[in-house]
Amino acid sequence: MNPASPQMVRNNPVGTPGITVSGEGIRAAQRRMALFAIVTPTVGTVAALVLAGVQGVTRMEIGLLVSMFFLTTMGVEVGFHRLVAHRAFKTSTPVKVILTALGSMAGEGSVLYWAAGHRRHHMHSDTGNDPHSPHIRNLGQADEPMNALQGLWHAHVAWMVRDRVTNCTFFARDVLCEPYLNGIHRAYIPLLLAGLALPAAVGWAISGTGMGALQGFLWGGLLRMFLVHHASWANASFSHRYGSRPFATGDKSANNLWWAIPTFGASYQNNHHCFPGSAYLGLRWWQIDVGALCIRALAALRLVWDISGPPTPEMMAEKRVATPGGDGGGTPLPSQSLSAS
Ligand SMILES: [Zn+2]
Ligand SMILES: [Zn+2]
Repeated sequence: MNPASPQMVRNNPVGTPGITVSGEGIRAAQRRMALFAIVTPTVGTVAALVLAGVQGVTRMEIGLLVSMFFLTTMGVEVGFHRLVAHRAFKTSTPVKVILTALGSMAGEGSVLYWAAGHRRHHMHSDTGNDPHSPHIRNLGQADEPMNALQGLWHAHVAWMVRDRVTNCTFFARDVLCEPYLNGIHRAYIPLLLAGLALPAAVGWAISGTGMGALQGFLWGGLLRMFLVHHASWANASFSHRYGSRPFATGDKSANNLWWAIPTFGASYQNNHHCFPGSAYLGLRWWQIDVGALCIRALAALRLVWDISGPPTPEMMAEKRVATPGGDGGGTPLPSQSLSAS
């Protein structure tokens, strides 16, 4: 087994030495990237809205916003999360490169950094070693509980600036050792900038004006990045504080139906923490899971295979908490593998 495979990482006990790396230089680099991710899209969003008040909004801006939101959220949720961090399905190298390149354009960190931090979150969920729990943090010597407001602030954005740097070699050695994924990791900054330049170029091509390029940059680039970020960060903050908990997971993960569409299904945190290997996060027919729909579409085109199917009814029954009125009831999805091979 690879020394840092997801299975082994999940089995390590809490408090394992080496889960973070020290060094002021690397912490400063993490803070710089975090501040870019938090501040720049916010400034761009304000600029987009001010410009919209002056110039109005056309179908081009809306089209670029929606299409770039779809592509980059698919890159993060299907590529970074289900494909790389959890290895929940298999695909060819070109599809893997495309999905992770799109995920890089989201501006949530490189595929290596993202997968390592996410595996650390699963391994230490809602303990002091979780990088972004809204309940407890350990920034110094001891675990420190937080109230609701402090917790939401920490888990939504502040952890990126405050937290110690996750040890990527420990948590994601497999990503480092896979040449194409390592290449996508190394190309993170150019890909991030390409995610801003692409909508600007399309805006220029459609309108033929510098203003069109600027609108494309703002709507398909920075405003899109702002919305993708906050949708995604709410999985760590709100969906570990509020929502229903049909399954016993040992942490505070919760399901939020209302947030499932913009997160492509990632807001079913309780389902996901209970069955982290499943490629399907929506486990009921009414739990809309856009990420799973993308995987089904790719499977129908025979572009992905060996998909880890949803848990069986017996597996779900074993983990279900007896809470009348919870969302654990109803007809489950069929549990057979949906492999395209
Ligand atoms: Zn979680
Ligand atoms: Zn996960």
